[in-house]
Amino acid sequence: MSAEFAFEVTARDGRARCGRLQLAHGVVQTPAFMPVGTRGAIKGLTMAQLNDLGAEIMLANAYHLHVRPGDEAIARAGGLHAFTGWKKPILTDSGGFQVFSLAGRRTVSDDGVVFQSHLDGRSLALSAESVTDIQMRLGSDVAMVFDECTAWPVTRDEAAAAMQRTLRWARRARERFGVIARGEAPEIPRATPGQAQFGIVQGSTFQDLRDESVGGTVAVGFEAYAIGGLSVGEPPELMYEVAGQTAAQLPEMAPRYLMGAGMPNDLVEAVARGIDLFDCVLPTRNARNGQLFTQDGPISIKNARYADDQGPPDPECGCPTCRTHSRAYLRHLFMSGEMAGSTLNTVHNLHFYLDTMRRIRKAIEFGILADFTRAFLDRYSRGARH
Ligand SMILES: [Zn+2]
Repeated sequence: MSAEFAFEVTARDGRARCGRLQLAHGVVQTPAFMPVGTRGAIKGLTMAQLNDLGAEIMLANAYHLHVRPGDEAIARAGGLHAFTGWKKPILTDSGGFQVFSLAGRRTVSDDGVVFQSHLDGRSLALSAESVTDIQMRLGSDVAMVFDECTAWPVTRDEAAAAMQRTLRWARRARERFGVIARGEAPEIPRATPGQAQFGIVQGSTFQDLRDESVGGTVAVGFEAYAIGGLSVGEPPELMYEVAGQTAAQLPEMAPRYLMGAGMPNDLVEAVARGIDLFDCVLPTRNARNGQLFTQDGPISIKNARYADDQGPPDPECGCPTCRTHSRAYLRHLFMSGEMAGSTLNTVHNLHFYLDTMRRIRKAIEFGILADFTRAFLDRYSRGARH
């Protein structure tokens, strides 16, 4: 176990909880949303802007950083924190999802995956052990195990095989993690000696496979557990059901991370079912496409109706974008392809996601999450229909 890792539940409301997650580079208040900086940067933002938004943790991707600039180059720079200038916690995803969704031709065996780089087509190999080494070199606060992520829908046999393989890889990744943490692999530089490692539960939408995956992954023993293989195209109601039933079986005293979700309403629904951590590209990616999230649903800033709209993007938002600029100006920036438009939209969307998490935490502390959830979903879905 990592000596610097601790998780304390500070408030409960139904199955939802607030927590204090201590990581090597600081504390994260949960439930938390982790902005996605796949290649060690939030697209369109500086680290100072991300910090000013109140983000307490950033996500980066081990696969992308391994391909470019290389984890050994980042280790020589002193690790991801020194390299990027982000001082707070970083979680690195293993790249399992990217290898199975974005890489070219691939061969999967128990040894690992051999595949073509999405950048230049060169042949790369990743295994449970090598992905553990890569993340140690990167020096993130949290390393995710390498997993086999299935698409949806998938047959039960395929889901079972991927789940079992993920479990075998989890045992090997934890073994390797222990070897490095005990200082028995001095050839691997450790920029963050207090790194924690999270296991990943698979099993697609087959609850009996999820149950088996929970049992096996918890038996290996990680600092925390993620639910992978959801938010890959299944209906939202099915995602909530599987995430909720799986979360209920995970250890009470470990954080639970729903990978890749989601829409603002997904966050609210999943917190009520016991989820503590989220990540998603939606607020940042959609910002660059001109979509702004508000409590009344998303708006598309490129719409002609905003051409003379001198009001702020979201009248109830206190973010720097909404305090300073009009819909008309943001629309103009988008239509002219000005870089500042992407930055301003990203600032607003991340503020909206982080602020929604703050409001959720307050609602849990006051014991009014059910009322908050009902009001939030009602208003958001009414606006989203426009
Ligand atoms: Zn705003």
